[in-house]
Amino acid sequence: EALSTVPGYAGLSRIWEALPQARLVGGCVRDLLCGREVHDLDLASPFPPEEAQRRLEQVGAKVIPTGLEHGTVTAVINHHPYEITTLRRDVSTDGRHAVVAWTDDWQEDAQRRDFTINAMSLDQEGQLYDYFGGVDDLRAGRVRFVGQAAQRIEEDALRCLRFFRFFARYGRGQPDEEACQAIARLKDMMARLSVERVAMELLKILSGPQLLRTLGLMEETGSLAVLLPHHAPLSDLERLLACDDPSEPLHRLAVLYPPGGVGGQGVAEIGAYLKLSNESRAMLTAFAKPEPKLAATLDDDALRRVLFQQDRSILLLRSWLVQAQELGRPDSGWDELRHRLEGLEQPVFPLAGRDLIALGVTPGPEMGQWLKQTQLWWLERGCRPDAVACREWLGRQLSPR
Ligand code: ATP
Ligand code: MG
Repeated sequence: EALSTVPGYAGLSRIWEALPQARLVGGCVRDLLCGREVHDLDLASPFPPEEAQRRLEQVGAKVIPTGLEHGTVTAVINHHPYEITTLRRDVSTDGRHAVVAWTDDWQEDAQRRDFTINAMSLDQEGQLYDYFGGVDDLRAGRVRFVGQAAQRIEEDALRCLRFFRFFARYGRGQPDEEACQAIARLKDMMARLSVERVAMELLKILSGPQLLRTLGLMEETGSLAVLLPHHAPLSDLERLLACDDPSEPLHRLAVLYPPGGVGGQGVAEIGAYLKLSNESRAMLTAFAKPEPKLAATLDDDALRRVLFQQDRSILLLRSWLVQAQELGRPDSGWDELRHRLEGLEQPVFPLAGRDLIALGVTPGPEMGQWLKQTQLWWLERGCRPDAVACREWLGRQLSPR
């Protein structure tokens, strides 16, 4: 069946040799059932973590105790990692930290998972365990809490965000009424979550195919105002998403915080507020800078020059954004331009300091000057001259001295 084509499938037999009762759980079961690409194979077993570790090592797996206090070990087989977690039940929870105990009852473990579609498991015989109607919900595009929505949110407010994340990905039809009412009532609990966790979920929401509906839902329940204050009107996003869509979450975030900003919040501020990585923040700030116009009329030499000065992905996203903002949607020239940009190799200036030393230039400010001049000459020629041509040109400049 579908499982045999998943990366890491081969190693599963080793795990089942060590832990015959282990089952695949959570996201991988859900994605196997709906034909979506499976990225992690997560398992659960009734063995306490130390026992699981010992048994896995006996069959030759490398085991890393990645989260012993949560019952999680990572087994590495043929360089492929598998997370294996001991079955748990909740003892108590205060909305941020859960106290758990091991159990050997699969249903108890399923009960503490967030949504019916995430609470299914699959054993080595291919038998599916679906305790709360997850298969039907998945088929109908329903994201439904296991148990009472309000209670599950009070235990852990991150589940509001997870609700939107899974709705953005799998949701169809009307969203679950009980969930929406509970979120609307308890949304302020989200303000107390750590920014890092919120940001991670937000970026996942932003990459969901049902983004517009989900953001609409987040607005209706008052969640959006708690999480992303001062964003641009959703209608802007609607207009932009109607165009060809690179579905990059940072790009979508940038659309919600256009250059100039709304209420003093620009994309740079939102990047800092969400404590995004330096790389992500650089990408977001790049959006806010004035635009070097990319036009279909530029020839390949000119395109290579722009490409040398700016990272390709930023360049593509920014110019896409500017086009879309100016024209309502990128014009037909955009596709052709993107095609050409993607077809070009990233230019790399072929000379370095040691080439200059070989030509007799003494290290120091003088060398920097010559490097710069050669680079200018190389840029004027559309980044085409190779190392030999650059050395020859520089040699000619140096010889009259
Ligand atoms: P993805 O494909 O996006 O990774 P996933 O379902 O694997 O989706 P994870 O965040 O990796 O999502 O969590 C793995 C599983 O752990 C979930 O399927 C769910 O059963 C459970 N889970 C994770 N976070 C929570 C939570 N806050 N409350 C309850 N159950 C959770
Ligand atoms: Mg996962």
